[in-house]
Amino acid sequence: MTSSFSNLSLSEPLARAVAEMGYESMTPIQAQAIPVVLTGKDVMGAAQTGTGKTAAFSLPLLQRLLKHENSSTSPARHPVRALVLLPTRELADQVAQQIALYAKHTKLRSTVVFGGMDMKPQTLELKKGVEVLVATPGRLLDHIEAKNAILNQVEYVVLDEADRMLDIGFLPDLQRILSYLPNTRTTLLFSATFSPEIKRLAGSYLQDPVTIEVARPNETASTVEQRFFSAADDDEKRLAIHKLLRERGIRQAFIFSNSKLGCARLTRALERDGLRATALHGDKSQDERLKALEAFKAGNVDLLVCTDVAARGLDIKDVPAVFNFDVPFNAEDYVHRIGRTGRAGASGLAVTLVSSRDARQVGEIEKLIKKKIDVEALQLDDARPRGRMNDGRRAWRGEGDDAARGVVGRSAPAPRSARPASRPSADPFFDRPYVAPATAPVAKWDDSRQPAARPSIKPKRKLAALFRAPELAES
Ligand code: AMP
Repeated sequence: MTSSFSNLSLSEPLARAVAEMGYESMTPIQAQAIPVVLTGKDVMGAAQTGTGKTAAFSLPLLQRLLKHENSSTSPARHPVRALVLLPTRELADQVAQQIALYAKHTKLRSTVVFGGMDMKPQTLELKKGVEVLVATPGRLLDHIEAKNAILNQVEYVVLDEADRMLDIGFLPDLQRILSYLPNTRTTLLFSATFSPEIKRLAGSYLQDPVTIEVARPNETASTVEQRFFSAADDDEKRLAIHKLLRERGIRQAFIFSNSKLGCARLTRALERDGLRATALHGDKSQDERLKALEAFKAGNVDLLVCTDVAARGLDIKDVPAVFNFDVPFNAEDYVHRIGRTGRAGASGLAVTLVSSRDARQVGEIEKLIKKKIDVEALQLDDARPRGRMNDGRRAWRGEGDDAARGVVGRSAPAPRSARPASRPSADPFFDRPYVAPATAPVAKWDDSRQPAARPSIKPKRKLAALFRAPELAES
């Protein structure tokens, strides 16, 4: 179901901002949620990431706040009217950026506060007065305690990615924050999944919410091609990544690791292989994390190797692939991880690399997504290193005898230092630049889009075979 934004009678400044974003039609969550939020009712929305839910809540919220718009310089005339809470800094930053774009032709002010950054600049912004405050819970509490944020005039509160907020252990912080808000307010809760805990949270803080589900909870986007490949160990997993990137002509991808240590180790290994990878995990400073993200967005980094907490909700347009280097411990994280690709109707590839130890977790994912999972064997001979180059880097099969003699061959990754800083890269792995699928819209929504055709990688192994065949680990 798609429909036009023009049916909404959004005020001119908002309609203009939407037009400038290039959105042609509403996404399903927008078509359902915007009219409800415009009426001021509470909403409990089940929407997976990448469905356009930020606009689904922020456009109607801004529309309703327009009555408070004013150009006074007095902070008292700009109290916080809407509070948007998110679990991670990156996500808060991203949502705040989107809200600023939607509000850019209005006089409504917005800002974002999150931890890991100096409080002072945030304090200055807050003291000037803002109508829309985007925040992570911990830092918001710091500002509330410092009396920088006064929340007694809040009319709207949005709990976005609520399931993750609970996972991270933010429930006590949320409860405290909500206790500072007026009772008469509209509360919007969005979550990719509706667990019993989420239902309890909604039961305590939402009044007669309208439930909106655009996809069944725990359903993965139909635009994502999901593949599971067996791999004996981390080396094989890396080979599989090399092979699939090359075969598919994929330039950029997210790679998920289950631990910070694994994330750092894998990043180093990929860099040694000559790939442009960077790590994104909770031990990185806020500055490093934002820089890593910017480098990826600018195309100066090809592989973002991340942990779940660091990557939650990141919206980077057109990430063609997600690799699960480790099968996530928690099946719901699988849904979130693969939500990084296939966003906004584009097609994407999600590859999960499965070792013999992972059978139970794969079974959990199978149950959650309600789809039969085939774990396939991937022929890796052609991706296997063939000895060392003169500089100690690995030479790769398929690059001809030159490689065996230690000469950088056609398909060998070039040393980082030998590559120009900007695209096009001289890295022969990527000399076929990523071309967005012909069907990928820039801003057009089409929810009937189907996954791209599969490559001919054979043979398939059934999940059951993993339980039966421990020798698979050695294959
Ligand atoms: P979100 O789920 O809010 O993170 O949005 C995912 C992506 O979809 C963002 O890059 C939005 O800019 C984009 N988007 C949101 N609404 C639309 C729309 N109606 N048409 C096309 N793209 C959209």
